[in-house]
Amino acid sequence: MARTTVLGRLTWRVATVAAVRDETPTARTIALDAPGWPGHLAGQHVDVRLTAPDGYSTQRSYSIASAPRGDRLELTVESLPDGEVSPYLTRVLSVGDPLELRGPIGGWFVWRPEAPEPVQLVAGGSGAVPLMAMIRSRAAGAAPFRLLYSARDPEAVLYRDELRGASQDGSGVDVTYAYTRRVPEGWPRPPGRVDAGLLAETAWAPELVPACYVCGPTGFVETVADLLVAAGHDPARIRTERFGPGGGRP
Ligand SMILES: Cc1cc2nc3c(=O)[nH]c(=O)nc-3n(C[C@H](O)[C@H](O)[C@H](O)COP(=O)(O)OP(=O)(O)OC[C@H]3O[C@@H](n4cnc5c(N)ncnc54)[C@H](O)[C@@H]3O)c2cc1C
Repeated sequence: MARTTVLGRLTWRVATVAAVRDETPTARTIALDAPGWPGHLAGQHVDVRLTAPDGYSTQRSYSIASAPRGDRLELTVESLPDGEVSPYLTRVLSVGDPLELRGPIGGWFVWRPEAPEPVQLVAGGSGAVPLMAMIRSRAAGAAPFRLLYSARDPEAVLYRDELRGASQDGSGVDVTYAYTRRVPEGWPRPPGRVDAGLLAETAWAPELVPACYVCGPTGFVETVADLLVAAGHDPARIRTERFGPGGGRP
């Protein structure tokens, strides 16, 4: 890769908030215009830097939720009650505000639209963000996708309407929800974590050699990756992204 390309990605740039959209009571999508954006692959993330008037500065990573589209990119941030950065991004940052970011970052946890093999996505909570970028980058007729999405309850699901559309239009995206704390009335399974039985029931079989992408809180990702290996999936085909602390339950 050209040295100038790498340096360009590591350089901070100032984007402008073009729109905000609430996804759930606690998560917001922020659409950004980033002039000169070099483009990205589904699964990559950016670093965001906030600087206070007294010069104090802090940064966090956020996955890109959108498919590549010119200078526009979208992030979806889940607000943590005691968080330093996420409450600011979800409640204070407004249309027209500047936001410093650098990226795109990441070369392993990426999906390329031309990849032929079936894709198994497993999301825990806001781990759905980079997986949504993969679904959004997928053209009709591309390799079939399955998404197993673990969320606290139905109200915590990101992109619910869009996922419903994608799974009902017959284009090859299959979505299964697993709720850890509260299920809708008449739901076929009691609340619970993703386990071996649920994976066996809903995920691609190891014999189909799917590419697996697992993203969410650290404990969730480690548990699911171990379950996939135990089920017979090749560890080399399991790509993981850990969003940070948190137990096995999103
Ligand atoms: C590659 C990468 C991509 C990411 N993409 C996204 C994304 O698309 N959307 C998103 O909402 N977040 C994402 N994150 C997490 C994000 O970087 C921050 O960690 C998160 O927003 C919390 O920051 P904060 O400043 O609000 O909380 P902090 O002030 O850093 O932490 C507050 C409290 O929350 C705990 N905590 C920190 N991070 C998490 C977490 N992820 N889950 C549970 N508890 C946590 C801390 O231990 C602490 O107790 C990503 C992280 C990585 C590494």
